[in-house]
Amino acid sequence: MNYTSLSDYFKSTYHTKVYKLSLSSGCSCPNRDGKIATGGCTFCSAGGSGDFAAPFTDIEDQLRFAKEKVDGKFSKSIPKEERRYFAYFQSYTNTYGDPQRLKGLYERVLQEPDILGLSIGTRPDCISEEMLGILAELNRKKPIWVELGLQTIKEESAKRIRRGYELPVFEETYRRLKEANLTVVVHLILGLPGESEGDMKDSVSYLARMLSPGDGVKLQLLHVLKGTKLAEEYEEEPFHILTLEEYTRLVVDALRILPENLVIHRITGDGPKSLLIEPKWSGDKKRVLNTLNQAIKNAVREESPTA
Ligand code: SF4
Repeated sequence: MNYTSLSDYFKSTYHTKVYKLSLSSGCSCPNRDGKIATGGCTFCSAGGSGDFAAPFTDIEDQLRFAKEKVDGKFSKSIPKEERRYFAYFQSYTNTYGDPQRLKGLYERVLQEPDILGLSIGTRPDCISEEMLGILAELNRKKPIWVELGLQTIKEESAKRIRRGYELPVFEETYRRLKEANLTVVVHLILGLPGESEGDMKDSVSYLARMLSPGDGVKLQLLHVLKGTKLAEEYEEEPFHILTLEEYTRLVVDALRILPENLVIHRITGDGPKSLLIEPKWSGDKKRVLNTLNQAIKNAVREESPTA
């Protein structure tokens, strides 16, 4: 079993450590502001699935703040002028707004010589032709990744979490993004209510067949967070919460299914501890990462005993 992590990808492409800067574009989300619905996806917290992003303020301030936040992670031997970043617009729907305003904002960020590219989180039903043209143009300057929260391919689950679009919408947008030469990163959530392990693996296998080399996958653990519709649902009728053992097995199986030419951007989520209801074990991030990394190492060793 071989897989390419995001840090492997950064190292082999840029020959240095690269950290992501969490930024805000000031966009809302049509699944929350009434254009599609008002409640949002049931698992989505007030932060719009980007609880660690900087608030929307002047972009210069955001960049300074976000760099200060990650700079401690760089080895002291890397001087400031050699540090490299990828800008990440995570929360809400970052193609949902005035395209020209967003163009200016993204261009401004890409002007920074230490920023290697942009990762833009959005929904597949929110990329107009004008926005697509802007993204394709920016991508000719520096890499632009478009992140789509698919979460599952099972329509019943998509309805239950109120995702607000059906699978063909994702497929059509994926086709348009690839035609425009953009890199696509797809998010899946493992542990959605009512899904069996088989359902989750079906979503993983679907991406294994569909995505192109260089595209990415983010595997996220379902978090039940305070203040969400999912928390109400869970309180009224508790559903199965994955154990750490089950989650670990699913991640290892997913890495076996996904081809090595895809980039695995993440193998777990990071819901804020102050809002976490379940799974409680996910609050101990160190233990979770150690368990996952050890299980992955074991699986690699079992499949290639010389590794
Ligand atoms: S599309 Fe994203 S921001 Fe909008 S409600 Fe769903 S998870 Fe939240």
